[in-house]
Amino acid sequence: MASTPTIPSRTETIRAWKEQGGAIAAVLPIHHPRALLRAFGLLPVEVWGPPRVDPAPGAAHLQPYVCSIVGNALSFLLRDGLEVADVILVPHACDSLQGLGSLLLDFVRPRQPVFPLYIPRGRRESDLQFLADECRALYDKLAAATGRTPSEAELMESIRREEEADGLLAELYRRRRTLPLTDLAFYRLARAREYLPAEEFAALLRAVLDTPPTDPSAGLPILLSGIVPEPMGLLDAITQMGGVVVADDLACCGRRLYPPGTSTAPFRRMAERILNAPPDPTRGSPIAERLRHLMGMARETGARGVVFYDVKFCEPELFDLPLLRRRLQEAGLPSVHIEVDLNDPLSGQILTRVEAFLEMVAHQTPEEGHR
Ligand code: SF4
Repeated sequence: MASTPTIPSRTETIRAWKEQGGAIAAVLPIHHPRALLRAFGLLPVEVWGPPRVDPAPGAAHLQPYVCSIVGNALSFLLRDGLEVADVILVPHACDSLQGLGSLLLDFVRPRQPVFPLYIPRGRRESDLQFLADECRALYDKLAAATGRTPSEAELMESIRREEEADGLLAELYRRRRTLPLTDLAFYRLARAREYLPAEEFAALLRAVLDTPPTDPSAGLPILLSGIVPEPMGLLDAITQMGGVVVADDLACCGRRLYPPGTSTAPFRRMAERILNAPPDPTRGSPIAERLRHLMGMARETGARGVVFYDVKFCEPELFDLPLLRRRLQEAGLPSVHIEVDLNDPLSGQILTRVEAFLEMVAHQTPEEGHR
C-alpha cells in the first residue's frame, strides 16, 4: 500500500498563487463559502491552529481554557505567520472563534481586514435565508476591500468549480478502502482541500481515482470523529495497531463533504451547500441526527467503534459527547474519547488508550454491535 501522491505544500501553493497575481484569504475553521472568496481572486487557505507553535503570544490575550486551535491561530498571527494573507475570515463556529473574531476586530487589529461570518444553528428556511444574507454581506465587504465586483455568472462558475472538487472528494471517500493509500496518505490528500485551489485539488483526486482498485484495506474498521487528526502520525499509529479508519466525522474532513446545491441564486446556493453538509455540533445539529449519521456510517462500512479525537476545551464537542456516547454504546457501537493540545506530541499515553480501545473492540463480537 502506498504512499501519498505528490501534494504541493501550503507554502508552495501560496507562493505560486501570489506569483500569478492572486491574493490570499486566511480562513479560520470550520465552514465558509470557498466559492465566494475565489470569485474575488482570493485563495482560501485555512488555519487549523496551526499545530506546534509557541502559544505564549496568544495566551496573553485569551482565557486559559480556550482551545489550542484559537490560541495557536492568535499566536501565529501575532508572530506574523499570517503576513502572507490579504484578508482574514473568521466564521463563528463556536464561542471561542467568535471571541477571536472580536479580539481581532477591536483589540489586536491586524493590518489585514477581518471579516466575521455568522453560521446559523439550524436548517430551517430562515437559517438558509440568514446564511445567504451573510454571504451577500461578505460579498459587499470583499468588493470594498478588493475593488472587484464579480457578476452572478462568475459566482456561479466559481460554485461549479468547488462543487466539482467536492464531488470528487465524496467519491474518494466512497472508494477509500480500495484506493492505494494508507490512512495517513488518504488524510494528507483529503486535507489538501484546506489550501489547494479547487481545480488543482480536483486534478490530484482524479489521478488517484484513476488508479486500478486494490484489495480492500485490511484491519479492524473504526470511525474517527472529533476536530482534526493532529499530530497526523496518529493515523500511522492506528495502522500499526491493526486498525483501519473506514469513515470519519471530523470537523476538518467528513463534516465538510458539502453536497451540490440546487438553487440558481448564488448566495442561496452557497448557503444550501453548507447547511446540507453532514451533521455538526457547531451548526447546532441535534444529537439524534448525529447518532443516526454515525450509526449509518458504521452500518455501511462495518466500523466496530468510534474514536472521538478532540482538541482540549472544545465546548461544542463536549456538550454532545456524554449523551452521544451513551446512545452509541446502547446501539452497540463503543467509543473512546481522547483530548489533545495541538502543541503536544503524540504521547505514549494517547497511543496506549487507542491501542487498549482497539483491543477491547477486537474482542467484542460483531454480533454484539450495531443493535
Ligand atoms: S476546537 Fe472546538 S472550541 Fe476550538 S475552534 Fe474548533 S470548534 Fe471551536
